[in-house]
Amino acid sequence: MQPFSFSQARNQDDALLQLRQSGAVAIAGGTTLVDLMKLDVQSPAHLVDINSVPLSRIEALPDGGLRIGAMVRNSDLAHDETVMKRYPVLSQALLSGASAQLRNMATTGGNLMQRTRCYYFRDPAYAPCNKRTPGSGCAALEGFNRIHAVLGGSEHCVATHPSDMAVALVALDAVVHIAGPQGDRRVPIEEFHKLPGATPHIETVVQTGELITYVTLPKSSFAQRSAYVKLRDRASFEFALASAAVALDLNGSTIRAARVALGGVATKPWRSHEAEQVLSGAAANAETFRTAAEAALKSAKPLRYNGFKIELAKMAIVRALTQAAQA
Ligand code: SF4
Repeated sequence: MQPFSFSQARNQDDALLQLRQSGAVAIAGGTTLVDLMKLDVQSPAHLVDINSVPLSRIEALPDGGLRIGAMVRNSDLAHDETVMKRYPVLSQALLSGASAQLRNMATTGGNLMQRTRCYYFRDPAYAPCNKRTPGSGCAALEGFNRIHAVLGGSEHCVATHPSDMAVALVALDAVVHIAGPQGDRRVPIEEFHKLPGATPHIETVVQTGELITYVTLPKSSFAQRSAYVKLRDRASFEFALASAAVALDLNGSTIRAARVALGGVATKPWRSHEAEQVLSGAAANAETFRTAAEAALKSAKPLRYNGFKIELAKMAIVRALTQAAQA
């Protein structure tokens, strides 16, 4: 680990002031950042501890939505009564991630900023990694790419996004609120994470000096009938090989509206508008669900070792839709 300096922010304004320093990075739970610092993958010159910034509340909004502070711990969010009842897909996704100890530390804002589990990214012994060292190449493209993306990849990076929570947020039309030197802004979750393109080291729209403050969930007709299915190598403490977050608005047995998002198979939390189009107005049955799953993976591009993920993702979608329809 490289030497670094450390300071504590007293409140949000103080945090924003301190984050203007060159090389400053915010630290909350530290469940990703400290790992990457120990591995010498990330070497921030200065850490700003934001644990005293009062953003730890989950509040009902007057319009029927929900506001989640960026410092709300994953375990608190997963077990929140309103979330469990009105946004079950979010609670299920959170509880499928990491371990109880990590969920007790990890925050809502930090979860959105998680970095990939690509083996080559996390091991500086491998020189080529465009995400870690821009312009150095990509060891995974011709290497062991079993856990990598079949959707959203580029010739510069095929790393998957590791978050479960963010996949559920995509299915819930969440909005991320960001504060910074230029004021506050709101970013729809679908636009928050960036495709790798030619710049895989730029992973989100968050700029230097900015801080995630809240995530809001709108009132919706489909959030309550929602489900998260995660398929992985072992049943706990493991990242998704494929996952699906879905939400359905049903009129009897007809689907009025649907949301389908995928994890573990794409370079960012992946919304499938193709699957949603198939579902909208169709009968909620096994045939429709399989057709939607086929549509979601139609543009998938397998690498040498990860072709199995395509069928796995389809199975996750069908299973999640079946569970949501029965909820
Ligand atoms: Fe690096 Fe992305 Fe290639 Fe992995 S897939 S080695 S993170 S550039």
